[in-house]
Amino acid sequence: EQVSSASSDAAKDTLLGGLLPVGFDDKSCLSRYRSALYRKTSPHLPSPNLVKRLRKYEALHKRCGPNTELYNRTMQQIKSGHADGTTECSYILWISYSGLGNRILTLASAFLYALLTDRVLLVDRGSDMGDLFCEPFLETSWLLPSDFPLNPINAFSEKSPESYGNMVKNALIRDKLLPSHVYLHLAHDYGDSDKLFFCEDDQLFLEKVPWLVLRSDNYFVPSLFLIPKYEEELHQLFPQRDTAFHHLGRYLFQPTNSVWGLIARYHQAYLARADKILGIQIRVFDTGTGPFEHVLDQILSCSLRENLLPEISKNGAYVPRAGTTRSKAVLVTSLSSGYSEEIRNMYWEHPTANGETISVYQPSHEGYQQTEKQTHNMKAWAEMYLLSLSDALVTSSWSTFGYVAQGLGGLRSWILVKPENRTAPDPPCGRALSMEPCFHAPPFYDCKAKKGTDTGALVPHVVHCEDMSWGLKLV
Ligand code: GDP
Repeated sequence: EQVSSASSDAAKDTLLGGLLPVGFDDKSCLSRYRSALYRKTSPHLPSPNLVKRLRKYEALHKRCGPNTELYNRTMQQIKSGHADGTTECSYILWISYSGLGNRILTLASAFLYALLTDRVLLVDRGSDMGDLFCEPFLETSWLLPSDFPLNPINAFSEKSPESYGNMVKNALIRDKLLPSHVYLHLAHDYGDSDKLFFCEDDQLFLEKVPWLVLRSDNYFVPSLFLIPKYEEELHQLFPQRDTAFHHLGRYLFQPTNSVWGLIARYHQAYLARADKILGIQIRVFDTGTGPFEHVLDQILSCSLRENLLPEISKNGAYVPRAGTTRSKAVLVTSLSSGYSEEIRNMYWEHPTANGETISVYQPSHEGYQQTEKQTHNMKAWAEMYLLSLSDALVTSSWSTFGYVAQGLGGLRSWILVKPENRTAPDPPCGRALSMEPCFHAPPFYDCKAKKGTDTGALVPHVVHCEDMSWGLKLV
């Protein structure tokens, strides 16, 4: 494969500091060992403990994975509804739910929870999970077999009697018989009893349940860092706490060959030759269809003020001399095409004050969110990945799409302040405190004192997010 001279380096560490295991068949998932050729080497190495823990997890998954003898044995218990305490393997089953950015963040959270609790992570394939991601674990599968008895798996909801919240309310956890499975409702609309998941005593009960079924649309990792039982291990795994998603994400999420084709072709055609790449992720939650003037003003004022884009010279007639200027490629992702057109025109109609050449590209403009359409999400995944290859990133408030790009890329983005009343905010953007995603719906509960508390003020490494005052993030 041809890659840009800036990033082609024979000594590139294709295993990402030991994050990835050796031994995968290269052709089945081209992206796995090639990501290092497209990405700058991350300054953040995974800790030796994390590397060791991942190898141990892979062995467990192989032993307990789908259709192994140990897996089949737990099926009997699911059919009976009760656990008899004899199973060697326990599981967390992730339900495919919500937009792609949300899914990536919850799956990373579920995997970290699996590491902390010695569970095996299995994935409901939903409509497209198998088309988007390669198998991350060597010689086994993370996809739930289609003959799984709790069917359809996505029928679980906050109303299910097996939900942990309802079990607590109905005093079922004091029952002598241990259930074979418990449903964890950790979605944005969860209730106070569901939130007890984040309390140590409740974890002691859940530990004994062989199957946990999880539905979430949130990056709940920050609150795992507040459970005393897991504190020490988390510190061992992530001595630099704000790299949790950076490492877990690059370990788990390898684009399939079809998605990799979208990424690699786009990169080579439009981005590889530029001296620098600026990613701009535009997600507008306003009703109505953009482009909106105030959003464009905000993006430009942020990019100019932070020196991410050069000023234009209104009266100059500067013409670049061929082959001598610095070039910057601007990769815009947005559901609508208007923003990138305006930026492209601006740099066509006027010279830049510093002589830099600016080219503006936008891979797709799908119009609106179409979560169930297959090629739509392949493009969405390719775009998140391409953004993560940028040298600098501007992202939208509240958007998990942007969080994924920032985290995979190991970048601290400039976050566009959420506009109110259709006016451009001042200041237009602020620098992210860390590369971590924000947990949008955290619990505010002190498990010991049994009363409400500000969970963003308990420890220095879990704080409120830049873009959502009630959210929590690792720094
Ligand atoms: P969030 O809603 O911004 O937190 O991000 P999600 O990824 O969870 O959900 C938004 C969904 O809308 C994505 O999964 C895509 O399907 C679609 N979408 C939003 N913005 C873009 C974009 O810039 N490009 C593409 N291709 N799809 C987008």
